[in-house]
Amino acid sequence: MLALAFGLGACGRGQANEKQEPATPPAPATTATAAAAAAGTASGTATASAAPAPLPPPRPASERPSATVTRPPGVNKEQWKRVWDTYSHLLDVDDLLDDLHRRFPDKTEIVTLGMTVEGRSVKAMLIADHPAEARGRPSMLLNGAHHGDEPLSADLVLDAIETLLTKADSDPRIRRYLSELQLWMVPMVNPDGFATFMKDFGAGRKNARETRKLVVGGTLNQRGVDLNRNYPFRWGSLREEGSTRNPERRNYRGPSPGSEPEVQAMMALSEQQHFVGAISYHIGTVALLAPYTIDNVPQPSPNEAWIVAVEIARSVKPDSTRPLYVHKNLYPVDGTDQDYFRATQGTVALLFESAHRSWETPFLHDKSLEAMRPAWGVLFDRYLDGPSVEGRVKDAEGRPVAADVRVVEVQTNAGESWKSRCPDGFFGRYLPAFGRFTVRVTPEGGAPVDRTVESVAGKGRVAIDVTVPSAPGEGSSPPRGVCPAGSK
Ligand SMILES: [Zn+2]
Repeated sequence: MLALAFGLGACGRGQANEKQEPATPPAPATTATAAAAAAGTASGTATASAAPAPLPPPRPASERPSATVTRPPGVNKEQWKRVWDTYSHLLDVDDLLDDLHRRFPDKTEIVTLGMTVEGRSVKAMLIADHPAEARGRPSMLLNGAHHGDEPLSADLVLDAIETLLTKADSDPRIRRYLSELQLWMVPMVNPDGFATFMKDFGAGRKNARETRKLVVGGTLNQRGVDLNRNYPFRWGSLREEGSTRNPERRNYRGPSPGSEPEVQAMMALSEQQHFVGAISYHIGTVALLAPYTIDNVPQPSPNEAWIVAVEIARSVKPDSTRPLYVHKNLYPVDGTDQDYFRATQGTVALLFESAHRSWETPFLHDKSLEAMRPAWGVLFDRYLDGPSVEGRVKDAEGRPVAADVRVVEVQTNAGESWKSRCPDGFFGRYLPAFGRFTVRVTPEGGAPVDRTVESVAGKGRVAIDVTVPSAPGEGSSPPRGVCPAGSK
């Protein structure tokens, strides 16, 4: 596979100025998309005219990973059948994504984000009309199975993929998502954890890093790092309250912030895309969590992420017996993905807990998918219809710039610097309400430029382009903040 230049250049790296954050960016082993690799492009962004070559023929079922998995000792036949019938397809998630790419080659692209401890890949599917031409649009993210023992969360993302692709030509709302957004889908963040779950239903929450002090005699559920406690924002900030340093416990935060390859893969994708909105799916209770979920992090005021979450909660009824509420958290946590996305890029990053651990109740599986399905549509519509603002930052010579972009009326309080992205200088923000706002763009080393925007019903998504003076670079280097030429 060819190396993918993955936007890890010097620009666009929003930082929340947390002292404990690592100074170095993640360095995941990103690889080219299957399509781009087949098309012979080194960048992973095939040019518009280059028709991607089709994937090789699908692997027969007998050669897919599920073919090697058998009923673990101690699991009775009926229970195994329920789990197998409901979730064994997830063992073959890479093949499933490839199959979908074959069916919808003009609407999908597969990107390998990284490799796990056990050598599985963490894959993303980009859904957009002609993905190679979609770079430059606002990006949204859905992800599942940070916890491998919550397989329904992966199916929630696969369900979104299936719905988006099969209805793209018939449903005008979905057609709009594909033509105006980049939809990034990561159904299985923790494939090692899920493979572990299929060996031992009591295990698989964490990844497969060998962390047990006593390997002999240790159980599988003691192994691994809790990926949703490993992100480098306020990692371990609540000490033993929000996660633990004990490697054998279920919420072990890992040896250092962002230490795990799966987390690095998601961090790199976030740094590249600057997601406007995101949903991370989990399973266990009925709840919608809005950032910041970590205690002692001061919230933006007003907190538009919370406002958007409340709007979603009104539209989704995941469980007929329990109302859906928006929460800050359910118990103390730190090092979570949604707070990392929020703190570094300003993403309206939500965590959705679905109702059922339905591998024991397969009849609830499809019901859960159906009940949860409206959530992502509300997230996308709320951005596309507004109130929201987006634009591009350029210098006087028209070069895209990574600059601090803030909505003055939305006061941030945790040292956030949310930047326009490279290579295109794009920024996109949900606004808390319709009305008049000041967008302040501050290039590195330069004076701020203010632009007033007005978002009104019916014309809620406001687009502006902002030209900023760029500060000279040192010597022959380009001006500070200007996206490096050729960056992807
Ligand atoms: Zn979870």
